Amino acid sequence: MYCKNCGNKLNDGDKFCVYCGSKTEVIENTQTAQSNTNTQIVNFNGLAIAGFILSIISFLLDAFCIISITGTTLSSVALYQIIKKQSAGRGLAIAGLILGVVSFVMNVRYLMIIFRIL
Ligand SMILES: [Zn+2]
Repeated sequence: MYCKNCGNKLNDGDKFCVYCGSKTEVIENTQTAQSNTNTQIVNFNGLAIAGFILSIISFLLDAFCIISITGTTLSSVALYQIIKKQSAGRGLAIAGLILGVVSFVMNVRYLMIIFRIL
């Protein structure tokens, strides 16, 4: 082992250089890499919840496709944010998206039936 500062030979395990007094510690990359993974914040995406709830409501009582369009839009925006920010709630966003599209198709069929009667 040699001193980073002055280049003199040192004994292994020396904390300080006996010639110039500078620190001989080796920078440990493993510790900084570990703390980086720990600081990754997992936050649940609120839009995913809103989109999912809207999609469920539209599935039950949306006559004019307005709620299902809103629910589908919110869910797709939520999914985009979740992938970008790597936050939680991806499953909920996908569920809201699928449910929104399904209820939209169903409600369009109802609308067509209503218009046919009128
Ligand atoms: Zn030194």
